[in-house]
Amino acid sequence: MNENQLSERLKRVGELVPKQSRLADIGSDHAYLPVALVLQKKLDFAIAGEVVTGPYEAAKKQVRKNGLDQQISVRLANGLDAVNKSDEISAVTICGMGGALIRDILEAGWTSQRLQGNERLILQPNIGERAVRDWLTIHGYTILEEEILEENNKIYEIIVASREVQRVAYSEKERLFGPVLLNTQSPVFYKKWQSELRQRQNILAQLAKATGDQQARMQQIEQEITEIQEVLSHES
Ligand code: SAM
Repeated sequence: MNENQLSERLKRVGELVPKQSRLADIGSDHAYLPVALVLQKKLDFAIAGEVVTGPYEAAKKQVRKNGLDQQISVRLANGLDAVNKSDEISAVTICGMGGALIRDILEAGWTSQRLQGNERLILQPNIGERAVRDWLTIHGYTILEEEILEENNKIYEIIVASREVQRVAYSEKERLFGPVLLNTQSPVFYKKWQSELRQRQNILAQLAKATGDQQARMQQIEQEITEIQEVLSHES
């Protein structure tokens, strides 16, 4: 992967960023995404935020190498602390991390008001998508688009959300599977949930052998297994 040749995952994320957004890419190792989008002339301004020195230095180097210091501001900061109100950010990408970490970054940004609530969010959790959807639901976001794709034997989901006038109350099932993905149900979606089903069945078998009171945990997993089997039964 480089700034001219993004991974399929980041390419899809980039396509979901609205044209001429003022973008904050949080967790921007090498700044590949903002650099690619500015080179494509899709954006004129972006922030590449990084909390770890190594990836921050790599991002700075990448931006300089491409002569984009005027368009891309590389900042060493934790999460949305990289963003100021005066940046007038209109889109935020947070990609390639676990869903719980993405949720924590959003929550900290919400609390500090670095996240204004009017930005388009394009989120790509590697695992734990449910935590992201829970946060979006609680904070009044509507999930506008979702994608699922497979690359190098890994399955990735992308969630696009913004706060709309009409608030949507997502069900437990929608938060687990994704409200948009539930409707589209692609082959990759089924592949993912077949694997998730097997994992839960294994966990259940282990819990059945474990000592101590596992009742509540087992009940929750049994319920999820039933939901997954129900969704998988629609596969044609
Ligand atoms: N976003 C890129 C992508 O999708 O290919 C890089 C993903 S990389 C696996 C995750 C990056 O997020 C790392 O460079 C890490 O240092 C950074 N990161 C993790 N927590 C962060 C935080 N709280 N604030 C900013 N960056 C963070």
